[in-house]
Amino acid sequence: MPEIPEMEVYKRQLSQTIMHKKIVEVIVNREKAINIPTAEFKELVNEQLIVFVSRRGKHIIITLGNGYYLVGHLMLGGRIYLAQPGEKLKTSGSVIFTFRDESKLFFINLRLGWLHLYTETEMDRAFAGLGPEPLGPFFTEELLSTKLAQKRGAIKPLLTDQEFIAGIGNCYSDEILFEAKIKPDRKAKELNSDEVKRLFFAIPSVLKEAINNGGYMEKPFSLGDNWTGGHNEHLQVYDREGQPCYRCSGLVQLITLSGKKSYYCPSCQK
Ligand SMILES: [Zn+2]
Repeated sequence: MPEIPEMEVYKRQLSQTIMHKKIVEVIVNREKAINIPTAEFKELVNEQLIVFVSRRGKHIIITLGNGYYLVGHLMLGGRIYLAQPGEKLKTSGSVIFTFRDESKLFFINLRLGWLHLYTETEMDRAFAGLGPEPLGPFFTEELLSTKLAQKRGAIKPLLTDQEFIAGIGNCYSDEILFEAKIKPDRKAKELNSDEVKRLFFAIPSVLKEAINNGGYMEKPFSLGDNWTGGHNEHLQVYDREGQPCYRCSGLVQLITLSGKKSYYCPSCQK
């Protein structure tokens, strides 16, 4: 499932490509992916300009000229693709927007994912339970330390809890704990101040490096996109069970914590 780096890579590419474009056709092939009747959705979205693209946690937010927000969550298997004018795709797409220049924005395979149309109030309500943005100005070492001290349970599943911190999932929680040299089954409230400090610095450092490398999504955003997916070969422990740790050559292990798969290096992480 895409996490902050993947959604940030989408956000930046969307910002460079669809801003100020006018939507001239809306196709909804999967009505379950949207939150209001298709006819109403089309009426509110069609003929609108894209005025801004942003992100909150794992959500992409596309602001329309009429003040409505298209808020997307890709969940497992969903992706976004921008087709050039005349470009043919093998997929039909769950929701498709055609722009006046005949380029098309595809939201593909929203089986579990969704694309909702919200007013500002509805969006605020939808995001009300989300924790702080780990790349934002309000995420401080003090905040992290206070939140950790209030929590029971292991650090790994906690990092993927969207109410604790927004936008981190299974992959980057493992990568962050490797960078911070903390074992995933350590109790959150028992981390000492050095470990909390390492964790605090590891979170933005791992996420930013992954963004710079293009995240781990395998499929590109558009023709000629050589950025998306570049982080796959830089993952240190995630999905590397039984393979040698790049730091110590010991073998990466897999354990399950609260139903979450967790990859780690037993010798690098304490
Ligand atoms: Zn190691």
